[in-house]
Amino acid sequence: MNTAERKYYYYRPLILAYHSVSDRYDGNLAVPPAVFERQMAFLSQRGYRSMTLETFVRQPLARPEKIVILTFDDGYADNHAVAFPILKKYGLTGTIFVTADYVNTDHIYSWDKNRIKSPEDEAAYRLLTLDQIFEMMEYGMEFGSHTSTHAILPILSEEQCWREIHASRESLSRMLDQPVTSFCYPEGKLNDRIVQMVAGAGYACGVVTPPRAGLPLSRYTLRRAGVYRSTSPLAFRLKMSPFVMRYRELFMQRQSGSAVSA
Ligand SMILES: [Zn+2]
Repeated sequence: MNTAERKYYYYRPLILAYHSVSDRYDGNLAVPPAVFERQMAFLSQRGYRSMTLETFVRQPLARPEKIVILTFDDGYADNHAVAFPILKKYGLTGTIFVTADYVNTDHIYSWDKNRIKSPEDEAAYRLLTLDQIFEMMEYGMEFGSHTSTHAILPILSEEQCWREIHASRESLSRMLDQPVTSFCYPEGKLNDRIVQMVAGAGYACGVVTPPRAGLPLSRYTLRRAGVYRSTSPLAFRLKMSPFVMRYRELFMQRQSGSAVSA
């Protein structure tokens, strides 16, 4: 671990991972809007300042600070309709990971298809349009890549893997007219080779959920704490504690018995 990475380790901020923020999405991936608002209010009352991953990686913290990086995976349209007004209300910002090939399309993720019981349900599973993305970018939200097709990277050939990592960065950077620097591994699935590809493709960082036993810490394996519908107010407070996160990692490392990098 070099000095810069040691800084990430010791002064790492709280990075939370959300997906959908909605009352209509049927499943644990969606945090209800009222709960999300309470969580944002709690963070601001506690004196947390938010930043995007891009800003954090460009200027790592030089001392411990109350920083929260709010991240959202999969690019659900409710991030704009529901989460964004709440973020603005509390002066918070964050990073949204979109799946490059599905931006501005009517794609519905495979895991959401069976949640749709009637045509009216469909709206709850829609993804962000470019206009919505531009509006949020203007406010200061960052957009990162969640691959081209939400691929589970370790099961792909090297060539497919590179396409998912590299081509998604290229196409998103073109679409957004600015370099995309943050990457999120779908389902947190990765191995050493994939981490090297993410660095080689020009990303400045990558995020992982959940904490993984023995996964070496670097700016390409930044740990996040996932927030779900099932997350109780107490569990949310515990997730905010850097000690709890480190303890969980150490505990898992002990359980696994050796430092593996899966
Ligand atoms: Zn995802």
